[in-house]
Amino acid sequence: LPMKRICIVGAGNWGSAAAIIIAENVKKYDYYDDTVNMWVYEEIIDGKKLSEIINEQHINVKYLPDHNLPENIVAVPDLRDAAAGCNVFIFVIPHQFLIRTCKTLKGQIPDDSIAISLIKGIDFNEDGVILMSDIIKRELSIDVSVLSGANIANEIAAGKFCESTIGYNNSDNAIVFFELFNNRNFRISLIKDVEAVQVFGALKNVIALGAGFCDALNMGNNTKAALIRIGLLEMHRFASKYFGPIHDAAMVESCGLADLITTCMGGRNRRVSEAFARAGGKRSWEELEDEMLKGQKLQGTSTVLEVMKILKRDNCLNEFPFIKLIYQIAYEGAAIPTIVDFPDEHAGDA
Ligand code: NAD
Ligand code: 13P
Ligand code: CA
Repeated sequence: LPMKRICIVGAGNWGSAAAIIIAENVKKYDYYDDTVNMWVYEEIIDGKKLSEIINEQHINVKYLPDHNLPENIVAVPDLRDAAAGCNVFIFVIPHQFLIRTCKTLKGQIPDDSIAISLIKGIDFNEDGVILMSDIIKRELSIDVSVLSGANIANEIAAGKFCESTIGYNNSDNAIVFFELFNNRNFRISLIKDVEAVQVFGALKNVIALGAGFCDALNMGNNTKAALIRIGLLEMHRFASKYFGPIHDAAMVESCGLADLITTCMGGRNRRVSEAFARAGGKRSWEELEDEMLKGQKLQGTSTVLEVMKILKRDNCLNEFPFIKLIYQIAYEGAAIPTIVDFPDEHAGDA
């Protein structure tokens, strides 16, 4: 078998945690090179380059400070250097940076390379909804699988049991990614639907903003559960409308309900959204993101803007009353208690 060499494109909170899993799994098979390159978007921490800190101390002091990285992870600050000699690419960067990153890789990687996207986000242009896998495929002309699930990175780095879902087109490639990700405490299921897996992963970040508003009001568990239920239906409706018929199992795999629950309980989107609501309009999303996340990025606030463009263009906002309420609070100054102002015949009904 030709040797497979892995490049992890991204070294944030999830990129670093995923690197731990991959770096252990490549050691189990002789057809994966044990050295795993990790592209680090370079920055200076206390006068020192982050990539050098990672290679010397084996710890990503900025994005995953409490966990050691295996020594076979090599941080590389230049993207093309990181990609050199590699044929398996793991994309794990905030979605707003993906196009630029792919353009840098264009023409630099072998034609038979394969990729997987761990990114949660969505884009939009005249043609309609654009998924992260579409961007990678368009720029690099390679097969793209996706991985998404109830996967808060810090918990995974601590080795706590969870599940995740790989969506694929090509089953040979799905097996590669299963081997690279699955382990005792990170259980992968496979589903032949890259669209549903990605739409759920992107939209749950929007629904989590609603959960944060609800928490700022101390609404309690019944309200939170109702909003999760309604949110799940709108996620499903959106996926079906733009990518239907979708694989219904996606709803009950880790990428569906489970991710929505964990993000609405413990995610960064929920946390910053609660703070936004508590600030009563006095703090901007950008300010709170910088202050609370210290370099990590929010995805739900930009995703809801993209989603609204699509729904407005297609004149179907009334089918997504919860997403509309979230948007109005996040960007139009609507009062926080309007988060439950559903229309009488409310579209949460199945
Ligand atoms: P992060 O939010 O922790 O970190 C931000 C990253 O962006 C840093 O690595 C930073 O160096 C990088 N960056 C800043 N400017 C950049 C630029 N111009 N170009 C390229 N990179 C730049 O990142 P993350 O949590 O690993 O998130 C990556 C993706 O993974 C997101 O789509 C996120 O939704 C998804 N995700 C995150 C988690 C999690 O728990 N953190 C879990 C599942 C999925
Ligand atoms: P947050 O970005 O809201 O922390 O969500 C992380 C995540 O995707 C968990 O699966
Ligand atoms: Ca090996």
